[in-house]
Amino acid sequence: MNEISIIPVGSGSTGNSIYLEIGPYRLLVDMGIGYRKIRDALSLHERNIEEIDAIFVTHGHSDHVKAAASISNHTKCLIYGNETVMYPIRMIDEKRRIILNTDCDIDILSGLTVRMFSVPHDYVRTCGFTFTYEDRKIGFVTDCGKMNDKIIEELSGSDVVIIECNHDIEMLKHGPYPIFLQDRILSKYGHLSNDDCADTVVKLYEMGTRNFLLAHISQNNNTPELAFNAVHELTKDLDISLYVCPSEGDDLLSY
Ligand SMILES: [Zn+2]
Ligand SMILES: [Zn+2]
Repeated sequence: MNEISIIPVGSGSTGNSIYLEIGPYRLLVDMGIGYRKIRDALSLHERNIEEIDAIFVTHGHSDHVKAAASISNHTKCLIYGNETVMYPIRMIDEKRRIILNTDCDIDILSGLTVRMFSVPHDYVRTCGFTFTYEDRKIGFVTDCGKMNDKIIEELSGSDVVIIECNHDIEMLKHGPYPIFLQDRILSKYGHLSNDDCADTVVKLYEMGTRNFLLAHISQNNNTPELAFNAVHELTKDLDISLYVCPSEGDDLLSY
């Protein structure tokens, strides 16, 4: 069986970049972590940033694109995303920036099927992805104000799902953020709470997924422990693996 390997190099409001291996391919989702940090995290596990085959961008917020220039200088691959992602990464050669359509299977590399789907988040168009190679599938959704049946359907059957577990609602309501910002985060165009993430994990478990990476954890309105505990509380009797993505990391996870 093909192994899936993941190095969550960075996840959270300070910057996002997650490295994935599926079948023979090496992929990067988002360009919000600087080139050196990615290079060092990958080289610790004998991976080379220059060998990445394709880069995918979920949306144009700076925590997902701010290192686009430095990363693209050290890779030759194509960079994929929706049309609104292309403006914040316009410093990259136009020939390397490819707009994907949502909701269709796209064979980007031989045998690798990618699907991009819309995710409700803020006023920028945001997308999640699935990556399928032979019998293995990775699902990816962060920066998602509200989960819906369509997204769950897209993620269903994944071996591994990387899913946002952004905030503890009580911590957000009693934290330092002004009310307007709290309301934005709590809205259906904000970020996914620990509780909503936990409910989604249970649904995806029932559809066959056993491995979950909890991602994009807020540094101000959450802790890794609260995120883990919220999901663990609903899943402790299930045969499931949970991993909490650190804001900066170099773990190699294999599935
Ligand atoms: Zn965002
Ligand atoms: Zn974000």
